Amino acid sequence: RPPRVAVIGAGIAGLACARTLVDHGLEPEVFDKGWRAGGRCATRESRDDPQFRFDHGAQYFSARSEPFRRLAASWAHDGLIAHWPGRILRVEGRSVTPADPGDRWVGVPSMAALPEHLASDLDVRCGVRIRSASRVDGVFLLRSDQGREFGPFDAVVVTTPPAQAVSLLEASPALAAAAGRARLLPCQTALLGFDRRIEIDADALLTADTIIDWAARDSGKPGRPAGERWVVHAAPGWSEQHLEEDPGRVAEALVDAFGDLLERLGAPRPEPTSRTVHRWRYARVAKGPGAGTAALADPSIGLLWAGDGVFGEARLEAAWLSGVAAAARLLALDLRGPERTGG
Ligand code: FAD
Repeated sequence: RPPRVAVIGAGIAGLACARTLVDHGLEPEVFDKGWRAGGRCATRESRDDPQFRFDHGAQYFSARSEPFRRLAASWAHDGLIAHWPGRILRVEGRSVTPADPGDRWVGVPSMAALPEHLASDLDVRCGVRIRSASRVDGVFLLRSDQGREFGPFDAVVVTTPPAQAVSLLEASPALAAAAGRARLLPCQTALLGFDRRIEIDADALLTADTIIDWAARDSGKPGRPAGERWVVHAAPGWSEQHLEEDPGRVAEALVDAFGDLLERLGAPRPEPTSRTVHRWRYARVAKGPGAGTAALADPSIGLLWAGDGVFGEARLEAAWLSGVAAAARLLALDLRGPERTGG
């Protein structure tokens, strides 16, 4: 009998892990609390308005390592992702300089298209928040918020951000402690619609001297519907201070700061025709567990932790590499030993 494996979290790390396990003949069961797979590689859409579509999490991704570069090339070949050639400007005080973060890929027609494709032939159960992973008689039993029980599993891979991982890793004090050392910072995000184009010679702005640190013309990415839409990210410090703020006030502050930024570029202050706020409670990695490894494992019980929080970098590529590393560590374990399977 092949080992039974649960993956908690269907973000890029969980999907990368599950896909690698499937490639090696396993049939992992993936659980996610969200209503669709993808986690922070996400798109906010409206059923009523086809023009309301914003990549509100990861904005684009780069591929620096050779394996991920090869994978990105194959996704591009299949039309799943495309290069985003948008011009990025760095605005500091009165200084405006082009910023070049290297190669930039986006999902087509949205960032959510990528995880949707990755999840399509996996056993992913959305809308299931796992509350505990307890070890009983050498196997794991998962319990959801709704009180449902799943299992038994011979191994569990937790791929949630650190704050949510601590309690799920309780069966291994060392892993729970590692998750306790890592921290992700929030990001208040404004999704803004306009009735006319914002006339600046740029598709994204980077800045370090306002309450926002990134603004991007989401509608300018390849394959997006018509319209003028911008995504504005608040800086981590401001997001943390205003985490519980009324969304209307958050929107007002971010629209104001965006207007200031545009005025510095000589453009008029625009009035959005729609504004929506999304609060990412866990967005970017402030600090990893300092483990110096892509994924962590407690081989004695078959419990693993992966994700960008383990890797220590809030990047899609880091999440992918971490998920693959967790799968590799899991595949190296002897999960069919008599102690775990009962003989
Ligand atoms: P996640 O995507 O967080 O996945 C974890 C999953 O676990 C989630 O789907 C969650 O629903 C699920 N989960 C949590 N708790 C439970 C539970 N108890 N039970 C079941 N499921 C649970 N990266 C880039 O490369 N480029 C960028 O431009 C970029 N910009 C970003 C901007 C923002 C605002 C944000 C938020 C992120 C950005 N990132 C960017 C980072 C990138 O999105 C992440 O590094 C990557 O998506 C993390 O993937 P992950 O699988 O590790 O975690």
